[in-house]
Amino acid sequence: MQEIADSLRKKGLIGFVPTMGALHKGHLSLIEKAREENDFVVVSIFVNPLQFGRGEDYDRYQRSYKDDYALCKSCGVDYLFYPDVERLYPKKTKTFVRMPSLENVLCGKKRKGHFRGVLTVVAKLFNIVKPHNAYFGEKDFQQAVMIKNMVYDLNFDIGIKTLPTIREKDGLAISSRNSYLAPIERKKAPIIYRTLKEGKKLIEGGKDPSYVIDKMKKMIEKKGFLIEYIEIVDQETLKKFKKEKSLIAVSVHMGKTRLIDNIKLMG
Ligand code: AMP
Repeated sequence: MQEIADSLRKKGLIGFVPTMGALHKGHLSLIEKAREENDFVVVSIFVNPLQFGRGEDYDRYQRSYKDDYALCKSCGVDYLFYPDVERLYPKKTKTFVRMPSLENVLCGKKRKGHFRGVLTVVAKLFNIVKPHNAYFGEKDFQQAVMIKNMVYDLNFDIGIKTLPTIREKDGLAISSRNSYLAPIERKKAPIIYRTLKEGKKLIEGGKDPSYVIDKMKKMIEKKGFLIEYIEIVDQETLKKFKKEKSLIAVSVHMGKTRLIDNIKLMG
């Protein structure tokens, strides 16, 4: 891949879309943007063991290489980078990328080591694929913020582009993990985005954040979801509620499935 990347860079711009596979419309929107803005598009598929904690869904994470390959082919992806674990981590990794100020907030509070795994693998992938631009979804907002910070702090010469969350018709953010939901759970899942929209309306109407969060919790819990967190944070620092450029972020559990979503406030 590094040799291919070197030769591609002589001919034009490389746009890169890192994924864990089980590709869906969310991934496709990133691929399309990468195609628009670059001469070559590289997609990686790698279910990264380093970012899964004990008891998380590493083993049952959906793997659908054949379908993913066909989809990439039909979307004009030039290279699909699909390393196995032994190739990406031939020896036990001794070097990690960490971000103490952000890795333990929001999703990182419960998922210890998750963002260390994400940043480390993304840094490796950047050094392997050598892209000019890389594309990430706002659905994983914290991840995108941390990657932007990593690229800035470590001087990666890569443009980081973030794109809006693609949703099902009923508002549920598309995710590979939606397939874990039982039909009855799937039916209830749109409450997450409905609640986010309601929260946005209330905050922008001047209601107190703690009142709004409480109301949102009740709306979601009524449908049988367990709340991991609902927080209103600054879009850049991920610190607690600021008046401008903030975001409501939610993580909920239904049975064994963990779903996240967010909505931006005030521009
Ligand atoms: P994943 O395969 O889940 O690791 O996601 C790979 C990339 O696709 C990440 O940048 C995600 O944020 C992005 N992504 C996942 N779901 C969506 C979605 N519904 N809309 C937009 N981007 C998404």
